[in-house]
Amino acid sequence: MERSFSKEIQALRLGQGELFEGEGILAVTKALLQSGVAYVGGYQGAPVSHLIDVLVQAQDILDDLGIHLETCTNEASAAALLGASINYPARGAVTWKSIVGTNVASDALSNLASPGVIGGAMIVIGEDYGEGASVIQERSHAFALKSSMWLLDPRPELSTIVRCVEKGFELSEASNTPVMLELRIRACHVTGSFAAKQNRAATVSRRAKVGPAAFNYDHLAHPPATFKQEKLKFEQRLPAAQRFILEHGLNEVMPGDLDDIGIIVQGGIYNALSRSLQTLGLADAFGQCRVPMLVLNVTHPLAPQQILDFCTGKSHVLVVEEGGPEYLEQAIGTILRRADRNLRLAGKDMLPMAGEYTIEVLTRGLLAWLPKARPDLDLAAPATAFDAAQAQRAKAQGLIGPDLPLRPPTFCTGCPERPVFTAIKLVERETGPVHVAADIGCHALATFAPFSVGHSILGYGMSLASAAGVGPLSQRRPIAIMGDGGFWHNGLITGVSSALFNRGDGVLVVLQNGYTSATGVQYLPSSKQSRHEDGMSGADIETTLKALGVQWVKRLRSYGLGGMTSALKEALSTAKKGLKVIIADGECQLARQRRLRGEEAKALAAGERVLRTRFGIDDAVCTGDHSCIRLSGCPSLTIKPNPDPLRSDPVAHVNQGCVGCGHCGEVAHAAVLCPSFYKTEIVHNPSLWDRLNHRLHQAMIGWLRSVGA
Ligand code: SF4
Ligand code: SF4
Repeated sequence: MERSFSKEIQALRLGQGELFEGEGILAVTKALLQSGVAYVGGYQGAPVSHLIDVLVQAQDILDDLGIHLETCTNEASAAALLGASINYPARGAVTWKSIVGTNVASDALSNLASPGVIGGAMIVIGEDYGEGASVIQERSHAFALKSSMWLLDPRPELSTIVRCVEKGFELSEASNTPVMLELRIRACHVTGSFAAKQNRAATVSRRAKVGPAAFNYDHLAHPPATFKQEKLKFEQRLPAAQRFILEHGLNEVMPGDLDDIGIIVQGGIYNALSRSLQTLGLADAFGQCRVPMLVLNVTHPLAPQQILDFCTGKSHVLVVEEGGPEYLEQAIGTILRRADRNLRLAGKDMLPMAGEYTIEVLTRGLLAWLPKARPDLDLAAPATAFDAAQAQRAKAQGLIGPDLPLRPPTFCTGCPERPVFTAIKLVERETGPVHVAADIGCHALATFAPFSVGHSILGYGMSLASAAGVGPLSQRRPIAIMGDGGFWHNGLITGVSSALFNRGDGVLVVLQNGYTSATGVQYLPSSKQSRHEDGMSGADIETTLKALGVQWVKRLRSYGLGGMTSALKEALSTAKKGLKVIIADGECQLARQRRLRGEEAKALAAGERVLRTRFGIDDAVCTGDHSCIRLSGCPSLTIKPNPDPLRSDPVAHVNQGCVGCGHCGEVAHAAVLCPSFYKTEIVHNPSLWDRLNHRLHQAMIGWLRSVGA
């Protein structure tokens, strides 16, 4: 990994009583160390990548505490890692992005939750839901319900988050059940402070090893033990958890003077709800609120007595629960019905079933509910102000109009994956349209303009598997796109071995950029480097494919457009049956630029010669048809006014962001476009030969000009 987390690592060293200041996700990392974990692991993904990234660089802290760190190849292996807590009194934590990661991990999670744990087991899930999310919109809550795992959803405030981590391990041990700690995007990035505690070494760890646990059939997720475990979940573990939640005050009751009404809210939504109530004049900036609230820092299980106590004396209660279906509202309704409580319960009838509960959405919901719950409240002024703000926004949107061009997200400047999609577009000019099975990763950006390539995305590393049903039905072989991250995460087994097993005849393009780039540039099994002291990585994709029995494998430079188009054409048309794999090799440009920046700065400081390459477009030659932009998509390729007063079309222009990858030049050549592209070499600290060469060139150009004149 090229990014340094030295500042964050300092925060992990803080001792008893020292003030921690920083982001929510880093507070969780510190809380894990304070909780005496014996092992940690996970698979990176927004919004929780930071947790593992920081720990990877904090190896000396982990060594001192005897903590084992596993950078897992997918979420299933991370979930299985928690199996250590089934037989050993060792606390463990893993992390991943949800919902997608939880889907991948779900088999292992079921097999973990059934026997239960004796050491605290925690899954820190980045709930990637709502505005800014990058995955399908589903809730992790369903997994907690179906597998009987407990779900913590802490109020986004650092002391509360840290307490939930620490108490979460205790809850897990008190009820022999794994717990999930759900952190929404905003909770991960909320900033604040808390009084730190000393980091704790575990009693069982890499520094305090134990012998194998005694054989215990009841610790296996296997019948007949599973029948007993299913009963234990509900007859012992659930009541134990509910007792613990009440005894340790994990949920919070916020008082208010309007005590005949109340709101029950997920902890993670509390901040937004407070702000909405403030908008309506019912709360202050510090969270003092007139409407009493029950803040559920644990959303599963609910403690029925706590719900009944909170609802006592209330005529109207609103459940604020983000996303559908309304699990909490239904559960609370059942608790109230069974106790024969007669109050008006509201929830999804006032608030939308789906989508993020932003302040605006919540305010609208409160304005629908409050007049029914407390008709005596005068909300006319805030309601008018809210409506005016909404009208203003609609007016602004109207003024912008539908004509504002969209700016879809795109690959980084100089990305090695871009040329592969240019090659596909060029090949399709000859072959006709091809079915392209897309995948998760940076390459999914090719689904946006100007490429608009990709028919389906079925999950991380699933492209080849998703093309398996398309191939036999299609006139042309489908192309599956997969990153090297996806290949190791799932694609090797789900796609490649299945294609070999079933004699699939498709084409797989593996984009080998050397990292899991989309999640923050982490190492993977085939990276040139690793996090280990010797810096060596272990695996090679080409060797692995050949060892499995793939016979048609070509490894090509991804920027070589001519070679890539030829290889694609051959793969699509060859009479040879079987899986055909093209490995498009090119280091992630983001990682490369980070690396080069440091190396070049050192070389410049030492007075060494440094060469930088840039591309440019000759204004006089550019015809202004911009097909280079449409085929390349590089953000450095833009347009500028035509300097020729006799021509009105803007000309193409390469801006200062160009990293000199050469792709645009290759496009111009491979697509037989205009010859307006040129390459410039910028030499810092030039040598004597560079200076002589420059003078020679200047003299030659001067002579040619004089001849021409
Ligand atoms: S992070 Fe790397 S692989 Fe991803 S778009 Fe940027 S350059 Fe390409
Ligand atoms: S060489 Fe061309 S494609 Fe590459 S970064 Fe520069 S402008 Fe973009």
